[in-house]
Amino acid sequence: MTSLPLIPVDPDAPGARRAAMPPQHLADLDLAGRKALVTELGEPAFRAGQVSTHYFGRLVRDPALMTDLPAASRERLADQLLPRLLNPVRELACDEGATRKALWRLHDGSLVESVLMGYPDRITVCISSQAGCGMACPFCATGQAGLTRNLSTAEIVDQAVYLAGVAASGVVAGSPPRLSHVVFMGMGEPLANYNRVVAAIRRLVAPAPEGLGLSQRHITVSTVGLVPAIHRLASEDLSVTLALSLHAPDDELRDELVPVNQRWKVSEVLDAAWAYAARTGRRVSIEYAMIKDVNDQPWRADLLGRLLAGKLAHVNLIPLNPTPGSRWDASPKPVEREFVRRLRDAGVSTTVRDTRGREIDGACGQLAAAEDTGTDPAGESSA
Ligand code: SF4
Repeated sequence: MTSLPLIPVDPDAPGARRAAMPPQHLADLDLAGRKALVTELGEPAFRAGQVSTHYFGRLVRDPALMTDLPAASRERLADQLLPRLLNPVRELACDEGATRKALWRLHDGSLVESVLMGYPDRITVCISSQAGCGMACPFCATGQAGLTRNLSTAEIVDQAVYLAGVAASGVVAGSPPRLSHVVFMGMGEPLANYNRVVAAIRRLVAPAPEGLGLSQRHITVSTVGLVPAIHRLASEDLSVTLALSLHAPDDELRDELVPVNQRWKVSEVLDAAWAYAARTGRRVSIEYAMIKDVNDQPWRADLLGRLLAGKLAHVNLIPLNPTPGSRWDASPKPVEREFVRRLRDAGVSTTVRDTRGREIDGACGQLAAAEDTGTDPAGESSA
């Protein structure tokens, strides 16, 4: 049993040490807020729309390219509205360029990661919501380092906008050039940074120039199961997909694999997920990392099948991408196939996630961990 505080640390809680947040960026504000800021700077309000169109609509952030703005105010507007938030440290590609992983250094030195995955019919990016993570899942590289701080709304949004620009450059061969899907499955527990994550979703789905214009249905928010936040998300006027990282169907094991289970048990978490599905009409994705001899036994497949049968749910089995030196390993393929068979026999829709990006430390936190320890991420295949 992992010994942990039962309530996750919230760096925004009263009395908590305030983390060093980045400068304000236009993606932190809605269009009305941007207009107010631009007016304070002595510019006409419509300049907010012009800069926003460059950033969200044309994916342009270089003031020299904003030729519809008066030359005298271009630099100043860009300085105030588009400060650099993400400094690229590494960008690695694999799967013949269809998977691209970016490691960023933030203004305070924190490292975060994002991944772009190109498919024949879509481009998906996986983004981070926190620098580090306080949830301490023992099989996860990010969880080992703990939480540094919440990302700002703009730091979250900018990962997607930056990678939308990469997609638009046409380098992802065999995929459409437009980013269409965003998953909050990078570093961090999104619902522990609730307000900024919801604001980021609103920016991602608002049409340009307010936002990136993605479909709500193409956005997935993952959580380890912060029950009050799941209920709160259900009450937002959003229809994003909820992905619940369950990883075990029984409390005894889940208490260890997902320590926040010591606070909210499997039954409570699933009840919250079903309430979310009922309120939004969206099928819940149940994420289950397949870990050899830990959670992959046939009886656990049967128990999971009984918990999920007849529910608006889909199981996404994830072959574990083990952290170098960790005691956790992926389940053998025959064990994985038997797990799938039992779930499907129980009437539960089940797929196995592809293993994109393994040779570039695709699991969240592995690239940042390699950077921190000075190891070569490209040479550390964990496949
Ligand atoms: S698996 Fe997700 S929630 Fe758990 S420690 Fe890692 S990043 Fe945090």
